Amino acid sequence: MTASTTTQAETLVQAEGEPPLCTKIMGVEEEEEPPSKRRLPLKDRYFSQVPDTDWNDWKWQFRHRITTVEELVKFIPLSSKQQAEIKLVISRYPFAVTPYYLSLIDPSDENDPVRLQAIPCFKEMTMADLGEEDPLEEKRDSVVPGLVHRYPDRVLMVLTDICPMFCRHCTRKREWQHGGWVRKDEEIEPMLNYIRNNPKVRDVILSGGDVLTLSTERLEKVLAQLRKIEHLDIIRIGSRYPVVLPQRIDDELCGMLSKYGPIWFNTHFNHPNEITSEAVRACDKLLRAGVPVNNQTVLLRGINDSVETQLKLSHTLLKNKVRPYYLFQCDEVQGTEHLRTPVDVGIKIIEGMRGHTSGLAVPNFVVDLVEGGGKVPLQPNYVLSMSENELLLKNYEGKVYR
Ligand code: SF4
Repeated sequence: MTASTTTQAETLVQAEGEPPLCTKIMGVEEEEEPPSKRRLPLKDRYFSQVPDTDWNDWKWQFRHRITTVEELVKFIPLSSKQQAEIKLVISRYPFAVTPYYLSLIDPSDENDPVRLQAIPCFKEMTMADLGEEDPLEEKRDSVVPGLVHRYPDRVLMVLTDICPMFCRHCTRKREWQHGGWVRKDEEIEPMLNYIRNNPKVRDVILSGGDVLTLSTERLEKVLAQLRKIEHLDIIRIGSRYPVVLPQRIDDELCGMLSKYGPIWFNTHFNHPNEITSEAVRACDKLLRAGVPVNNQTVLLRGINDSVETQLKLSHTLLKNKVRPYYLFQCDEVQGTEHLRTPVDVGIKIIEGMRGHTSGLAVPNFVVDLVEGGGKVPLQPNYVLSMSENELLLKNYEGKVYR
């Protein structure tokens, strides 16, 4: 995939001339608070001196992402050994987290589910020989640079490699080394042309990196062009902004999106602790703009690999009108082995959910096949035997029915 470095101009907000972030480390709480309480107000955990106007400004959040060990250690206690290890990891797989997402981490808990997604782990290096760089072979299916056409009726447009946070389990972490690029108009035009000339394509997925890193104006240009293509039914946006930088979902963005529907929005909550009042507000704004929001969770070891956590995640999403859509088996990507579970963990989770709660709360558990084989849904086995005259089925309680 070729890409142009634009020094993040236009979309990235320059930090030049900004005073250093004035931060206050709050330290470890003396009394343990229930998660629902300790999430509010988030800002006060580490950033009590930051004015609300800055905190609620997505460009401020983006400019002040924490990207080095030296900055990180001001917030999260790290031994010298841990600091040295993280530096090594960052030399291969960069690190970035927004102040907002960092504020979800309990500094006293090394196994905090948000921490495990955001802060580099030495196992990314020591287990890096397990897995592939690009197991889904997205490069092979690129029909023009940045446009992946694998399934008959839908295409994936990759418009940037920039994300507000680098999720440690990311399938595209191979791209992080390339330093931050946004497609230029002259690169987007061949993608649009391909779609214009392929009437079978009825569904376009805008992704990245994270496509909401583009300015609202720039994103609108792409959406306006796509909407002129008559055979295109729906546009989907894949973005983790509602989770890691919900301030991005502002009135300007939602007003713009409302003009180009039907747009479906797929986001990526992995743990109930991520569903804060800010995140809920972001999803609600999208819904009010006529943009349905679905969630795609990645199954991650030590983060959300239990029935209890998945039930809580699904129920909290549904309460906030977000549909739990997919539960993905973590792809076999280099540098993510320590976060991957065996496939049967996912099947057992679905078994523990199906029938025990409403079907709406049960996501589709899928594995994305290596070599670009596509997504395959996996289910617990409810069919005990099937012949011409007889079907033996097991229900969610294990009772057998003929
Ligand atoms: S937001 Fe998505 S693309 Fe970006 S780092 Fe996270 S998982 Fe990867």
